[in-house]
Amino acid sequence: MEVPFWNKEIETLDRSSLEKIQLERLREAIGWSLKTPFYSKKLAQAGIGSPDDIKGLEDLRRVPFTVKDDLRRSFPKGHLSVEMTDVVRVHSSSGTTGIPTVIYYSREDLERWTDLLARCIVATGAAPRDIFQNMMTYGLFTGGLGLHYGAERVGMTVIPISGGNTKRQIQVMKDFQTTVLHITPSYLLHIHSQLQADGIDRASLSLDRALIGAEPHSENTRRKIEELLQIQAFNSYGLSELNGPGVAFECVCRQDMHVWEDAYIVEIIDPETGENVEDGQEGEVVLTNLIRQAAPILRYRTRDLAFLHTEPCACGRTHRRLSRIRGRTDDMLIIGGVNVFPSQIEEKIMKIPEVATNYQIHVDKKGALDRLIIKVEIYPKLFLGEASKLDALRQHIKEEVRSSIVINPVVELHEPGSLPVFEGKAKRVVDTRPQE
Ligand code: ADP
Ligand code: ZN
Repeated sequence: MEVPFWNKEIETLDRSSLEKIQLERLREAIGWSLKTPFYSKKLAQAGIGSPDDIKGLEDLRRVPFTVKDDLRRSFPKGHLSVEMTDVVRVHSSSGTTGIPTVIYYSREDLERWTDLLARCIVATGAAPRDIFQNMMTYGLFTGGLGLHYGAERVGMTVIPISGGNTKRQIQVMKDFQTTVLHITPSYLLHIHSQLQADGIDRASLSLDRALIGAEPHSENTRRKIEELLQIQAFNSYGLSELNGPGVAFECVCRQDMHVWEDAYIVEIIDPETGENVEDGQEGEVVLTNLIRQAAPILRYRTRDLAFLHTEPCACGRTHRRLSRIRGRTDDMLIIGGVNVFPSQIEEKIMKIPEVATNYQIHVDKKGALDRLIIKVEIYPKLFLGEASKLDALRQHIKEEVRSSIVINPVVELHEPGSLPVFEGKAKRVVDTRPQE
């Protein structure tokens, strides 16, 4: 297997050289942070008044965590370490869990971020010959512009189409013979439904790869995408607080995502105690940005749950790999006293071939009891099939889900195209239980 690199030297750096870079850059990041009203106070409380107080990487643990609310509270300028005249771009989070947070970038910050994204793209095997259709929303969301500039830097032909307008997206794929897509997994599944509904032959398209991210998805969803569309799909992870996409990305091996450790320090903590967990154990991902001056961020609690692989990747990169994100701590549903992540349900239903490309999870209360209703779209042929077969399918889905989460769901089968479609991040959970 050919392993492409953007910057082979950095991507395959031995551990001790990588840690040397991390330490140098951490000191630099502490220096930037001390210039912000927010961190100067926070670091002083932890006894850190100068970059020289960081003697080794282990001193990072003295730095207090930063949480989303800190960023909200110090809006608009509490996190700024440079003059506003040195800020050349602003982005914000999508606001999945409340008020969005705002991020600032200097020219150098954008330069470093763009370079990292070029690295991600090349790691997947995409190259200047490719036609890149960027279907992530442009605007304040980091997914659009972030990958846009990364792809231009690689030298691909970039189609900045943004999200939405599915028929046009498909027309553009045909017109330009697009080879690489950047898209959320949920929207890509919808694209497939649309191709089917319009009777478009896969052979009329030239798709090779999809870079998919911005939302949790299971391995079975990836498989489904790869099989239905006959492409390779690469997981892409990032969050606006840490620049946006490009924190971690899959390489050609597609065995989870390399965290670019010269740009980010990744830690996994126990979300209850805040203590770092053993390597290989799942916990909350905590990230420190080593490359952003204008709005530095240290030990950010992402609320995303994952683990770090202990085995090296076959590609030869030395940057450790982060597992698929199981969900956010605040995504967890408690149904009848049982903790459930939507991804556990998705993992089960997406491997069932009769299940089409969209589903929804509803939780409500019937009397005193919580009730889980799973609505899945199935293929039209099946939908019009015999009642007994539909009953058997319903039962099968029910059992699959119950085997994973020990809750007996109500399963509803729906015709394709009948559940709500999301062109960016999907909102699949509808919880109508009264707030306690
Ligand atoms: P918001 O937090 O408002 O959604 P962002 O747009 O910055 O703002 O989204 C970042 C979040 O999206 C991450 O913290 C994570 O929960 C989710 N996310 C991004 N990429 C992935 C991915 N590949 N797999 C799972 N979740 C992801
Ligand atoms: Zn690899």
